[in-house]
Order: sequence, then structure tokens, then C-alpha cells
Amino acid sequence: MKIICIGRNYVDHIEELANERPKDPVVFIKPDSAILPKEQDFYIPEFSNDVHHEVEVLVKITKVGKHIDKKFAHKYYDEVGLGIDFTARDLQKTLKEKGLPWEKAKGFDGAALIGKWLPKTNFANIDDLNFSLYKNEKLVQQGNTSLMLWKIDELIAYVSTFFMLKKGDVIFTGTPAGVAKVSANDYLSGKLEEEEMFGVKIK
Ligand code: ZN
Repeated sequence: MKIICIGRNYVDHIEELANERPKDPVVFIKPDSAILPKEQDFYIPEFSNDVHHEVEVLVKITKVGKHIDKKFAHKYYDEVGLGIDFTARDLQKTLKEKGLPWEKAKGFDGAALIGKWLPKTNFANIDDLNFSLYKNEKLVQQGNTSLMLWKIDELIAYVSTFFMLKKGDVIFTGTPAGVAKVSANDYLSGKLEEEEMFGVKIK
């Protein structure tokens, strides 16, 4: 499986990093080795002093698809989730400045936390989901999928023009504002609407 991530999909986050608003979705891939094993702590890698949390809504692809039309995109996922796109911001900054790919800053071991999955039928409207991240029980990130520049079905259509989607692929749909550094002993937990989706200790 592959993990497809969308960058700069919320205006408030684009502004906090002083990034340009993209004309098309910003897309990158994490390898499957980036998945943080269930119930394991997240270890800050030695090569970074500035690993950020980015809480994101996830969808899991249920069948093969290529050049998927936006109006059929909803047929390609049954479950939604919540996760963290851990980002070595210091390394990413250096790579960006040199015009180099970000993979090392985003695709390292453990950089993809995938929480539990819920049937999408639990929710009335996938494009109106509240989600949030708590650090040591304090609210640090809060978003709603209605604020995405490109909505979930548009993302699936767009991404599938470049990458064939396969059963089990996961899409990280972008983070809202509030990204910040994690430190040893922090505890992060995420909520989708009222449901606790994950909890992770930082080491
Ligand atoms: Zn992200």
C-alpha cells in the first residue's frame, strides 16, 4: 500500500507557514515503512530538532481506480480516520530552500500515525467533519473538512490522474493551522467529531 499526502489544503495553515496558495493540490507520498505501529510510542528521530505534529483526516481506498471522476470518488472509500503527518520541519525547510524533495522530512520511520477507522456512514456529511488534536490534554489544532481548498472527492479524482489507487491505500488530506513542535514526554490525542481516534506518547 502507499500513503498519499496532501499539503497546503487549509488556508489558515498555508498562512502560518507563509507558503504560497497552490493552484493545484500539493501531493507527496510516504512509504509504508513510515507507518507507526499500533500502540507504539513515537520516537523523535536523531536528525531533527523540530518535529511537528500535523493532524489530518484520512480516507482508506477500497478498490483499484485510475482517472476517477469526482462524482464517482465516493465509491472508492468506506471508512474515514484521523492521523498525524509527523514532519521534521527543520529538515523540510532546508530541503525546500534547496528545491529538493521533502521525502526525508516526511517519510521517515514512524512519520505516519494512522488511528482507528470509522464507517463513513457514521457521518451525515463527509465535507463537514470537525476534528482536533490535543497535546497534553490542551487543544492545539482544530479543523473542519468544509474548510479544505480541495474536498475529499476532488482529491481522490486529482490524485488518481497521477497514481493508480489501490485497495488499502491511505490518503492524508492536509492539516489545519496550529502545527507545532513535539517534545519528549508529550502525549497527543486526536478526535474526529466526539470520537477519540488515537493517543500517542512522544519519546
Ligand atoms: Zn501534512
